[in-house]
Amino acid sequence: MARCEVCGNDYDKSFEVTAKGQRHTFDSFECAIHALAPTCAHCGCKVIGHGVEGDSRIFCCARCAKESGVRGVDDRV
Ligand SMILES: [Zn+2]
Ligand SMILES: [Zn+2]
Repeated sequence: MARCEVCGNDYDKSFEVTAKGQRHTFDSFECAIHALAPTCAHCGCKVIGHGVEGDSRIFCCARCAKESGVRGVDDRV
């Protein structure tokens, strides 16, 4: 049993995620995303897919990257 570090829920099916050498405990993927997922530099939504990296920033999609002036990115589907 471990307590979720985001919402404080003490849940017997909690899980651990290691990110950048640090161990985190969550009760749900929603909380894990809240704590660990990067945020789109253009629209501010959580990037939970592969996302797009450009200009050393992370975007949720190529459209956001383009609108922020990043060239040469396209959604690969
Ligand atoms: Zn939680
Ligand atoms: Zn976006």
